[in-house]
Amino acid sequence: MTNLRLVIAIDGPVGSGKSTAARRVAELLGYTYIDTGAMYRAVALKALRTKIPMDATEKLLALAASARIDLRPGAFENGGTQRVLLDGEDVTAAIRTPEVSQAASKVAVIEGVRRVLVAEQRRAGASGGVVMEGRDIGSVVFPDAQLKIFLTASDEVRARRRWLEHQQKGDAIDLARTLEEIRERDRRDAGREHSPLVRAEGAVFVDSTAMEPEEVARLIAMLAREITSLKPAEAS
Ligand code: C5P
Repeated sequence: MTNLRLVIAIDGPVGSGKSTAARRVAELLGYTYIDTGAMYRAVALKALRTKIPMDATEKLLALAASARIDLRPGAFENGGTQRVLLDGEDVTAAIRTPEVSQAASKVAVIEGVRRVLVAEQRRAGASGGVVMEGRDIGSVVFPDAQLKIFLTASDEVRARRRWLEHQQKGDAIDLARTLEEIRERDRRDAGREHSPLVRAEGAVFVDSTAMEPEEVARLIAMLAREITSLKPAEAS
């Protein structure tokens, strides 16, 4: 067994179970969980609040460069939820509305915004021991990650998962509308010019449609342990 601390990249569409899996894998391995979508959401929230249109490229770029986004890894006893601070304010809940979700996928189209956030993400994962989830982690942020996962599930199951989350928070949104929204966001994420959502080269494809979250997490943790049990030369 080496004491290699991996970068584990988990990418996939909306509602594929990335956050739940990534949080739990981090817990199982004693790694840090990093939700990169929260950074795009924080930029989007700031843009909505300051009424910057989602196509004002230069203004959004300046906003992304000046926003102070601080991701605080959650304590496992609180479910491992990562706290998100935007210019010092706790926006953990405020970035989870359907409006911010759509806006986040619009600001994520802008190359310059991505450049700013990707630089931050690379810094955060530089020493390894991280489980980082998003859309371009295995393809762009850490193309040399030792373990890459592409997680997906059927559209219907993903919509139901997202809808249940909204129900639990008391958001009034129906299942059909949720399905429409996730399809719209997937289309934008997979169809954009810069860093579209793709299955990265070498990524293990995991379809979570009929899997429990715990099964997904244990599968990923098992793959990680297999890599760390190899000799360093075999693991690279
Ligand atoms: O993962 P989450 O749904 O919170 O991400 C919100 C949006 O941020 C996504 O729809 C996507 O447009 C963008 N995103 C991205 N690249 C990442 C993470 C998120 O483009 N690495």
